[in-house]
Amino acid sequence: MNPLYFAAPAALTTAGVFAYGCVYPRAQIFGPTICRTNSCGKLAITFDDGPNPSITPKLLDLLDRHEARATFFLIGRFVRECPGLVKEISARGHVIGNHTETHPNLFWLTPGQINAELQQCHAAIADTLGAPPQWFRPPFGMRNPWVISKAGELGCQTVMWTLIPGDWREKPAEWLISRMQPIARHARRSSKYGSAAARGTGDILCLHDGSHRQLNGDRTRTLAALEHWLPRWRDLGLEFVTIDDAVRTPAL
Ligand SMILES: [Zn+2]
Repeated sequence: MNPLYFAAPAALTTAGVFAYGCVYPRAQIFGPTICRTNSCGKLAITFDDGPNPSITPKLLDLLDRHEARATFFLIGRFVRECPGLVKEISARGHVIGNHTETHPNLFWLTPGQINAELQQCHAAIADTLGAPPQWFRPPFGMRNPWVISKAGELGCQTVMWTLIPGDWREKPAEWLISRMQPIARHARRSSKYGSAAARGTGDILCLHDGSHRQLNGDRTRTLAALEHWLPRWRDLGLEFVTIDDAVRTPAL
């Protein structure tokens, strides 16, 4: 029998597992990642691709109004352009993470190139805040066998998500609001089942206050969707926590 009958499916399976590890947000085969909070009562809202001078200040005010703390994964070259805004994010009680220097797809890069991308952003944040970040999120969520270990060498844990509603797409705010419905659905299910469900895990939401292509990207729909959901999520009993509080403080 032709050995290709056996070899071809095996190769396809290996390729499939590899692709799963690169792309699927909760895959762990290239190393451990954080992809849930430690309690169904804790929602970790995260923002990528900032800082963004035209959106982030409004977002900080909105989060303050709802006593929400969040995590911002910043692009190093934008950190260097807006150091005052980075300090403001931190001063308001939010946590800052590394989202690389220039936002490449790390899948295609060598270990040395990955290291340079992470190291430059790491230094930009450390120089601005006086302390290095402890969290890292890969651009586009893309990993390869080196990404998570390179972040670990810088003292950073890799953070993924449970929900990424696609707020970069040019759709009406109503579309984005409906895409964020699963958060409320999970919260209702948890309150229905009471203390048994409280031992469960909560969502990490991935939104964007910036655009990786340029500063001052339009993210007004993200603000509008949060204006809609923050009071409703609060009414459902959710706490809005940073990634530190999502995994390091005891479950609610
Ligand atoms: Zn990004």
